[in-house]
Amino acid sequence: MFVIPEFSALQDAISRVTEAEVLQALNADLPGMAGLAALLSPLAEPHLRAMAKRSAIITSQRFGKTIQVYAPLYLSSYCANRCAYCGFSADNVIDRRVLTFAEAENEAMILHQRGFSHLLLVSGEAPAKLGVDYLEELALRLRDRFAALSIEVQPLATEEYARLFRAGITSVAVYQETYDRAVYEQVHLGGPKADFDYRLESPARVAAAGMREVGIGALLGLSDWRAEGLALGLHLAWLRRHYWRTGLTVSFPRLRPAQGEFKPLHSVSERNLSQMIFALRIFDPDVGLYLSTREEARYRDGMIGLGPTRYSAGSCTAPGGYGQADAGVEQFEVGDNRSLAEVCAAIQQKGFDPVRKDWDAVFQAKGDRQQAA
Ligand code: SF4
Repeated sequence: MFVIPEFSALQDAISRVTEAEVLQALNADLPGMAGLAALLSPLAEPHLRAMAKRSAIITSQRFGKTIQVYAPLYLSSYCANRCAYCGFSADNVIDRRVLTFAEAENEAMILHQRGFSHLLLVSGEAPAKLGVDYLEELALRLRDRFAALSIEVQPLATEEYARLFRAGITSVAVYQETYDRAVYEQVHLGGPKADFDYRLESPARVAAAGMREVGIGALLGLSDWRAEGLALGLHLAWLRRHYWRTGLTVSFPRLRPAQGEFKPLHSVSERNLSQMIFALRIFDPDVGLYLSTREEARYRDGMIGLGPTRYSAGSCTAPGGYGQADAGVEQFEVGDNRSLAEVCAAIQQKGFDPVRKDWDAVFQAKGDRQQAA
């Protein structure tokens, strides 16, 4: 079982870093956990340009000149949780909806026509409104029309993940939001998500179920981003050790304005975010790194080739929002409103290939699905 150290111990480790350790981490092939702490420290800030260069070289060696593009498809705004920072919190009085299968398929086909082959199915966490049966049925309906289907929904049991894998879901994201237990309790005011440990153990359940890929992440703005970065590194390393067959990804969502007017508890600048991304890339050359439309176009364009390998595009965070202009409350405001074509053009302008399809179900050994049975 993955156990996270006290958050203050992670902060202490970063505060003890020396200049010599930063230089050592920058020059090491694999800097390890001590090196990650060094690269996340304030002493590494003057070396940001060197970190960017190193991160870009590693990214190009491991991933080539490619960026995978995908779109989120929001299925439901119902949620049983009371997360203080989220527009879908059960505390917010908003019109809520869950898409019917026909509506969800319609949204998916709009995205398909726009050129997307990778879909991320997202919903609030309300199993009574949208549970495993719904996700299984929708995956079965969509699997032959898309190269890859991912989900970002409530944490599930291992056997439920295995069921969804057999139905065609290949990747699951479960973000811890914050590894700072005290802040976690402060902002998760009620609902099943208030259980820190169950959430922390979820990525291991995903991997144990045989999923091709699992995504972890921290919501930046809730606590000290440097210590969150070190916690993400520990979590990544633990998952690599125990589930070496499973692909791993990390997301770095920064808090965005949302219904409820929650103000970030810690500021995280674009420079801070860049340092975190470069540090994680140097620490783990193979991890997929997401940079979503939470960030502005200017920043996302500037980061092409420097570390992130996956960009969302043309995103709408309200259920039904692709087919309907006024679909209701969004989970949060998007920072980059460009279409898929515009994002792809920006990627190409930098000399990179936007990849709309890098996976197909035929690659999935039949035995893998049977093993998940
Ligand atoms: S962050 Fe997720 S779990 Fe929390 S209120 Fe929003 S949709 Fe629900």
